[in-house]
Amino acid sequence: MKMNREYESRVELVNRLKSEGVVKTPEVERCLLEVPRHEFVWPSMRRLAYEDTPLPLGESGQTISAVHMVAIMNELLELGPGLRVLEAGTGSGYHAATVAEAVSPLSLPEERWGHVFSLEIVHELAEFARRNLERTGYTSRVSVIERDGSLGYVEAAPYDRILVTAGAPGIPPPLIEQLSVGGKIVIPLGGERFFQELVVGVKTDSGELRTSGMGGVAFVPLRGKYGW
Ligand code: SAH
Repeated sequence: MKMNREYESRVELVNRLKSEGVVKTPEVERCLLEVPRHEFVWPSMRRLAYEDTPLPLGESGQTISAVHMVAIMNELLELGPGLRVLEAGTGSGYHAATVAEAVSPLSLPEERWGHVFSLEIVHELAEFARRNLERTGYTSRVSVIERDGSLGYVEAAPYDRILVTAGAPGIPPPLIEQLSVGGKIVIPLGGERFFQELVVGVKTDSGELRTSGMGGVAFVPLRGKYGW
């Protein structure tokens, strides 16, 4: 079942990211190999699914992130089984699926699974992502919620990990509040709409974030109350 053309293209891409040092851990490698990216790209973009590039999601002006960016963020997040994760910016659902593979691996019994709560502000994309996640078997591991992700999702807080997949002018205060002590957030931050620095923050006992910059990135802008 796995040895089809798509799987082979995926192995090739992931091997390249490994040789470039982008994929560092066997766990991130496994998650990228498990998720069929061609099921998450816009249908007209299917033949480009295993090019390492962001691809447009229909006419929405939004994009599915490049695979190397998903790998970089997942390495920084230090994911593991049982973690509760919040994502702002579901898009296609692809990144959420890779995170679900790490926090809720099928090799473990359900009691030991974590969960991914993913927030999307564009109705059509929330629907698109739900369909993709359902077709590929992630429904019980990822919840897609149509909501302004800059406000977080207090109903299921706190979270061990938070990832934001759109560029924000600053860290939205509700996301800091909804992060557990010792929890980690990864977010592209920047004074310009289309260029950001990828920032990692760890919440300390005093409730503050200790942050460090991890280099330049380019995401679509975060909208909503604490977005642009
Ligand atoms: N993680 C996605 C790619 C995200 S692109 C994937 O794997 O495909 C950024 C996404 O963030 C877009 O879908 C955009 O609509 C969404 N977005 C932008 N501002 C948002 C907000 N305030 N709340 C929730 N989603 C937002």
